[in-house]
Amino acid sequence: MTAFFSSINLPNIKITDQETLDNRDIIVRVECLENGTHCKCCGKHIIKRHSLNKIIRLKHLPSCGDDVYIESQLVRYQCIDCNGSPTTTQKPSWYQSTGLCTDIYAKHIITELINSTISDVASKEGITQDRVNSIIKRYVPTEIDWSKIKEIKDLGIDEIALKKGHKDFVVIISTKINGKAVVLAVLKNRKKDTVKKFFLSIPKHLAETVENVCSDMYDGFINPAKEVFGSKVNIIIDRFHVAKNYRSAMETLRKKEMRRLKSELSEGDYKKLKNIMWILRKKHNELGDEEKETLNLLFKYSPLLKKAYNFQNKLTSIFNQPISQKQAKRKIKQWINAVEKSELTCFNTFIKTLNKLWNEILNYFINRLNSGFVEGLNNKIKVLKRRCYGIFNTENLFQRISIDFAGYGATY
Ligand SMILES: [Zn+2]
Repeated sequence: MTAFFSSINLPNIKITDQETLDNRDIIVRVECLENGTHCKCCGKHIIKRHSLNKIIRLKHLPSCGDDVYIESQLVRYQCIDCNGSPTTTQKPSWYQSTGLCTDIYAKHIITELINSTISDVASKEGITQDRVNSIIKRYVPTEIDWSKIKEIKDLGIDEIALKKGHKDFVVIISTKINGKAVVLAVLKNRKKDTVKKFFLSIPKHLAETVENVCSDMYDGFINPAKEVFGSKVNIIIDRFHVAKNYRSAMETLRKKEMRRLKSELSEGDYKKLKNIMWILRKKHNELGDEEKETLNLLFKYSPLLKKAYNFQNKLTSIFNQPISQKQAKRKIKQWINAVEKSELTCFNTFIKTLNKLWNEILNYFINRLNSGFVEGLNNKIKVLKRRCYGIFNTENLFQRISIDFAGYGATY
């Protein structure tokens, strides 16, 4: 015998009866105590009882592993003022009239979905994936409710590929409110017009609160941000996008040098350089002795790679130092000069980008808080990416991302 429910955490109800079925499902019968409803025609509050509606049965939070259902027979009220005296069924505040579960249960499912997948949640809860999908559809908005947002200080813009290895990008626009990342929109592509149109759709009083825009180096993000938010806004290139850029320059040189060494070295000597790609990517202070040996061997064969490697690490260390923007400017200028004086050409394109986006890249050093914001966001998006392959609809994607970022019924 299961303990009788004295409370099921639903407002304005009275428990009238409880039954445990043979399959251990528990049925709790309740009466709604809210008197009256609003007429579906004139909207007036009506209290004249007309009849009883059919019985609804809603899934509720389980109890000690047993499924719990709430059963209730809703009252139909009649409006005597409207033509034809139409009837309206009462609407308890704890479920959505088209749903098959209580709001509390829906909230529980949405919380379970944070950093999880629909199929995992469905099998854990013993419900179908369709049911999980229908809860998402009913309870999670498909776009941001601007009225919930008071200000947008930092705006983040980033892209994710929807299919592994494909170039179908969607763009994630986000902000940080009370220390928490909040997704403002998922845009269907990374075209400049799409981005600009979204920026223009931000209510004016909120657009005026934007102080920083964190972006990667893509013109299609930077230019619309400048055009819409004006010159008072700091455009900040996320340092990790900068690093990605100079690391890929280094990677190109590595490939070229390895091709050269493959043809010049004996097979045995070349084999000693295996894993070099991973060794070069690792932080130098995290290398083991054997890895350091391999690295030194490579540098003996390729002084050019050694130089490039040192330049790359030097630049990373500038970004890591707690220095002012002025100091950073001086140090990076020195870095550019030194690279240009060397015989290295692998960083030429990177240096061009650096000069072109000089202010935006250096803005990072004004307020490093932004990097934490983008970093945290990037990690979340990275994890999400793995689970979201296969979701091609931006509305669904917005729902799934908002669940991950804020859970159920986020209040900002
Ligand atoms: Zn009426």
